[in-house]
Amino acid sequence: MASRRQADRRRLGAGLWHGGRMLSGAGALGVLAGSVAPWVQLSLFGIPLAAPGVLFAGAWSAAAGLIGLSVLRRAPFVVAVAGLVALGVGMSQGKPAVQAVSRQILSLRMRLMPVNARLEQVRLSPIEPFGEVSHAEPGPGPAWVALGGAVLLLGGVAAGLGERWRRSCPQCRLVWSDERLPTLLHCPGCGLRRTSARQCQNCWHVAEKSDKHCAHCGEAL
Ligand SMILES: [Zn+2]
Ligand SMILES: [Zn+2]
Repeated sequence: MASRRQADRRRLGAGLWHGGRMLSGAGALGVLAGSVAPWVQLSLFGIPLAAPGVLFAGAWSAAAGLIGLSVLRRAPFVVAVAGLVALGVGMSQGKPAVQAVSRQILSLRMRLMPVNARLEQVRLSPIEPFGEVSHAEPGPGPAWVALGGAVLLLGGVAAGLGERWRRSCPQCRLVWSDERLPTLLHCPGCGLRRTSARQCQNCWHVAEKSDKHCAHCGEAL
């Protein structure tokens, strides 16, 4: 009974860990893509232009995405926090970026006003760098960042929980360290005997069910 529980917990933990890592990787890539994707779109002298998110608050989400990619193995819960940051940035910072650019456009138009008034006096066409439309359009970047951040958050939490379940005591919840995990016979916290794993009689390395030889020392099992 206890051995079934240990094995189930380990298997579920391993599944969560692997699935969480894959999710996090995809989420981090989504966040990075969203950070360099257009956040603000406008046209300058008729040429369509796009400003990437990293010019605005997208720099934060880009950093969060990089953290998500780099520390996943060591600190899955840090990855979850990075996902939360990206989600927040993606959901809240799209509009301010568009507003900031719109303000710049407006102020440039104001400064061109006297020049254009002069041009009109001598019957020349006015300078309209941004065409008829005086405001900037939002781009798809923030939505990608928010979606990627949500996936990154989910993956980080799953990987972190999985990692804990995979190597913690099912009875007292003590987390067994990576170094001790392969040779542990009893839980150092509560004395529970580890019965789920086959162990090498030579080096006590824990073997998988299908192993015919010890993966650590080669002894036949
Ligand atoms: Zn224990
Ligand atoms: Zn061995």
